[in-house]
Amino acid sequence: MEFDEFKSYLTQKFEEWLYQQREIYLPQARPLSSQERSRMSRYFEKRILDVTRVATVGQIPTPAFYDELRKREIPILMDFTSAVGFTLIDCVLLREGFEATSTLFHEMVHIVQADLLGVKKLLELYLSDLAKNGYQNVLFERQAYRLTTRFTQEKSFSVREILEKEFSL
Ligand SMILES: [Zn+2]
Repeated sequence: MEFDEFKSYLTQKFEEWLYQQREIYLPQARPLSSQERSRMSRYFEKRILDVTRVATVGQIPTPAFYDELRKREIPILMDFTSAVGFTLIDCVLLREGFEATSTLFHEMVHIVQADLLGVKKLLELYLSDLAKNGYQNVLFERQAYRLTTRFTQEKSFSVREILEKEFSL
């Protein structure tokens, strides 16, 4: 399989999986608590606060199509089993025992990224960054980690405005 073909194959598989998992976790997910909402309102606009859902999980799920990748001897790009948070479009999964506000913030940055670029575009860019440069250098992760550091230091700023500028939207 050519790299581009593989990339679009993987993007499609990933996208399907994200929507499937979202359906699975949404029924047990909750809106932001009033405390989380008031804290996050200094960084996110009302619409993002409204759509965000949070579910606590024992472990971040591993994509089912990973078995298929293994069979085809395609390298697994990312191991989810040690992750403390993961975002299914607008549904944040937090690993039980690791429900830090900074993790929630990091994951909500991903919600805004998907909102600005669209899920498909985000996945395409994410996976190609991941394949080329590794997790630490994925643009969307670097943004999320950098903004999370600011979150721990600054009283307020607009995540959307910063991301719009960086994406040149
Ligand atoms: Zn992240």
